[in-house]
Amino acid sequence: MPRGLKSVPEFALKANFYRPSTYKGETAYQASFEAKIIFNYMQIKDILLGEGYKSLEDLSAYLIRERLGLMWDNPIFAFSNIYGEEFEFLVYQDRISVWDHHGSVSIGVFPRTSTGVREMLAASEEYTHGLIRCSECGDKMLKTDTAGRYFAGSYCKRCWETDWIDENGREHKNVRDIEAHENYE
Ligand SMILES: [Zn+2]
Repeated sequence: MPRGLKSVPEFALKANFYRPSTYKGETAYQASFEAKIIFNYMQIKDILLGEGYKSLEDLSAYLIRERLGLMWDNPIFAFSNIYGEEFEFLVYQDRISVWDHHGSVSIGVFPRTSTGVREMLAASEEYTHGLIRCSECGDKMLKTDTAGRYFAGSYCKRCWETDWIDENGREHKNVRDIEAHENYE
């Protein structure tokens, strides 16, 4: 069976929102768009602290796969803060990881508790105001003062120079890890 929906409404086909593709005599309609599930800042707390967080995958399967016919392995969940800026998030083992709307800058990892969710929303508001927390020490800094980036992490000058640059000024994955490894050998 080809990926996509078995049928789509006439208007959606006419509008090119879906395109038919046939494979071994079976036709499926593939979406011309992607989708993201975005929760409002007023509801995200109740969803994360109630039972809702357990059903995010089910919601994705129902809306994204069954209704929209989109197929990808990583459902994209987001919430919007009071300023309307969107942040992607994932819940794993009672920890909430949050990124900017591209999923490329880490905003932080927060415990799935009342305080944690409050912190998460506060960090997202600070981000809109141009502040970010260092991925290592958690100190707030201006985004423009980020001394170094590694994957989605942003590091303050102190942490970057302590842990990520060796005495010859070379940037490393993590100088402390390398030193520990060298001492072990
Ligand atoms: Zn730091």
